[in-house]
This record gives sequence, structure tokens and C-alpha cells, in this order.
Amino acid sequence: MRMPRYEFRCRTCDDTFEVSRPMAESSAPADCPAGHADTVKLLSAVAVGGSSSAPAPAMGGGGGGGCCGGGGCG
Ligand SMILES: [Zn+2]
Repeated sequence: MRMPRYEFRCRTCDDTFEVSRPMAESSAPADCPAGHADTVKLLSAVAVGGSSSAPAPAMGGGGGGGCCGGGGCG
């Protein structure tokens, strides 16, 4: 079973690092590789799988405007 990875940032050396840990310990503090304990957890990269696709922009939408696209608008 894969463990999710959580990204932390050290406020002492201003470095970011990832920690693999079970979700049950996701909120536990983590020391930075340099041994500093003053770290904050980043909310960005929390991914279990290995997908690296960028999030698709929200397209389409309802509610307003646009052509009907079938010809004969208007
Ligand atoms: Zn550090």
C-alpha cells in the first residue's frame, strides 16, 4: 500500500521537503532534513498516485452567452 506524501516547509532554513506517512499521522509535526522542528505543512501536493497531469481549466459553463454552435444563431 502506498503512503501519501505530504509536503512540509521548514521555517528555519526555508526549505521544502516531502514526508511519506500514513494518513493517520498526516497532521503530526515533521522535522526538516536538517533537523529543525519549526515546520509547517503545505496543503498543495498531497497525492497518493503518481499522476502528474496538470489540472484542466474549467471550460464550458452554463449560464450565459455564447453561440448555439449549430448554425443559425441569432
Ligand atoms: Zn530546516
